[in-house]
Amino acid sequence: MNLMKGKTGLIMGVANERSIAWGIANQLHLNKANIVLTYQNESFKKRIKLLSEKINCKNLYKCDVSLGPENENSIENLIKNIKKDIGDLDFVVHALAYSDKEELKGKYVETSRQNFLSTLDISAYSFTRISKSASKIMTNGGSLLTLTYIGSNKTTPHYNVMGVAKAALETSVKYLSVDLGKKNIRVNAISAGPMKTLAGAAISGARHVYRYSEKIAPLQKNPNLEQVGNAALYLLSDISSGVTGLTHYVDGGLKVVGIPNQDLVNI
Ligand code: NAD
Repeated sequence: MNLMKGKTGLIMGVANERSIAWGIANQLHLNKANIVLTYQNESFKKRIKLLSEKINCKNLYKCDVSLGPENENSIENLIKNIKKDIGDLDFVVHALAYSDKEELKGKYVETSRQNFLSTLDISAYSFTRISKSASKIMTNGGSLLTLTYIGSNKTTPHYNVMGVAKAALETSVKYLSVDLGKKNIRVNAISAGPMKTLAGAAISGARHVYRYSEKIAPLQKNPNLEQVGNAALYLLSDISSGVTGLTHYVDGGLKVVGIPNQDLVNI
């Protein structure tokens, strides 16, 4: 229970107690990490403040990573403030994504240019930008982690442009691992199975995807917050010190299934 003792890290993406970022924060807190949280905007602040108290998090910062005059240098300012208030970082968790809900229900072919660009910007590019900024204050090396989904390399219903963003994100993980490896900074992703969160619910047909995945996954279960949190604990702690550039699946084994056994589907 002491795997993160002496380590300080930033976790981005807690919206509520069902957020994957919150599942990760809990496991890291149990393992004695010192945690810094961000919230996207004022509407999240009160809830995140209450949650932060449960994990002894004393440092909360606003950070919206989307394009816009107000947010232009939000990531750089966040890192500057962390350096000033706390010092160096040992790890960063990037658990955020966004796309227009209207384009997560129809067909991919209908994707607008504007939503394509903003989805890729928020959901993929932000990880590269936070990696660049945060690596400057990771003077003892460390670990960067992002969250992805199997919709990056196979089609899943209505995941659409988010699948394209996750493909870009997973490839970013590989390139970042090469760029930052010489500083002993590792870069990995967790590909989680479907989970009932705000972001998950934004995708049309999420219930069907959830039930289908649960049925055909070898473990016959979708992952829970604790399981994803524990996989993150492994990737963020020194026990994975030889691992970088990886997308690690926490999906009950769903990824390996090509055609499900006949008793599981009615055709
Ligand atoms: P969530 O809704 O709890 O978290 C999404 C977070 O993204 C929120 O905290 C939100 O504030 C933040 N966010 C969105 N736009 C932002 C912006 N412009 N600036 C800063 N923050 C912004 O949902 P979640 O499911 O916990 O999502 C976390 C990550 O996990 C996402 O990358 C998601 O794609 C990924 N993921 C989710 C599932 C799932 O089934 N829920 C499966 C695999 C991967």
